[in-house]
Amino acid sequence: MKKRVLSGIRATGRLHLGNYMGAVKGMLELQDNPEYETLYMVADLHTVTTPYKVEELRKNRREVVLDYLAAGLDPEKSILFEQSDSPHAELAFYLSSVVNIARMQHLPTFKDKVKQHPNNVTMALLNYPVLMAADILIYKAGLVPVGIDQEPHLEVAREIARKMNETYGTDFPEPVRFATRGEYVPSLTGEGKMSKSIEGSYINLTDDLETIQKRLAGAPTDSGKGEKIPTSGGVFNLLKFVELFEGIDARKKYEQAYRGQGIAYRELKENLAQAIFNELKPIQEKRSELERKTSYVDEVIKRGAEKARKIAKETVLEVKEKMGLSFN
Ligand code: AMP
Repeated sequence: MKKRVLSGIRATGRLHLGNYMGAVKGMLELQDNPEYETLYMVADLHTVTTPYKVEELRKNRREVVLDYLAAGLDPEKSILFEQSDSPHAELAFYLSSVVNIARMQHLPTFKDKVKQHPNNVTMALLNYPVLMAADILIYKAGLVPVGIDQEPHLEVAREIARKMNETYGTDFPEPVRFATRGEYVPSLTGEGKMSKSIEGSYINLTDDLETIQKRLAGAPTDSGKGEKIPTSGGVFNLLKFVELFEGIDARKKYEQAYRGQGIAYRELKENLAQAIFNELKPIQEKRSELERKTSYVDEVIKRGAEKARKIAKETVLEVKEKMGLSFN
């Protein structure tokens, strides 16, 4: 049997370079490997763990599918679906019976969200990692292409798999992360990671050249020369972008310049904007084609849901039986 792969992106708006480099690139690589059966979802249920607007969610669930298809995910090779169309929430409830509340409260990802939304510390937010474990385990997926920020959640998924197997005799694999070169895309602000919720931190997949130039213009720099290459902050992050989009040799050239005659940041940002845009342009062209193919996209979502549900229902039934919740 082929090994299963599961990944997803929340339906909170347009995808940014962090999502693309950290998750979608890995999804694409595994989709083209015949050893794997790949399932990629729009994590719409995860979207309701933080404050959201109903109309926007309705729209964004579809936007992510368009982004997936535009980036090259292929419904002939991968099952593309909406998380809420498959019984993940039901499995999450069963799994929650082996999860300790304190373990969830101490996760750094939970603490970050509590800081961001102090008035919305809900059960859904606390359950985020349990739902993510359900996303993966419901397909018995062993490999998960996601960014490095998701590692604490994968650890929880492994703990839950072990606990369920020990307690109820299930056969869940312990899922591991599939890392890409862009597993951590830094923020344009010079601090932390690129994130949809931090204005000025991101470049969207749909940004045109001018917008990319503008966003990069805001990235902090320094005098351009010195004995030591910075190991954090704006310049470090810019060099990381150079490495990701222009290659390691280009990065080395700038590092040499930093120690010597100095870096001209205007030129660096100009070249970088062009390199990023070159990668995004074919995705944007395909996206505008897809925006016109409404019934095709509807069909992809419908067929994806049927296929995902079929596998997921079997696992839910098995878990119910093993937990004593059905006759057999
Ligand atoms: P989210 O938008 O939080 O649902 O994230 C969707 C996927 O994008 C997850 O696999 C994240 O790990 C990944 N991701 C988000 N931001 C970044 C980033 N700055 N660098 C690398 N991967 C990221």
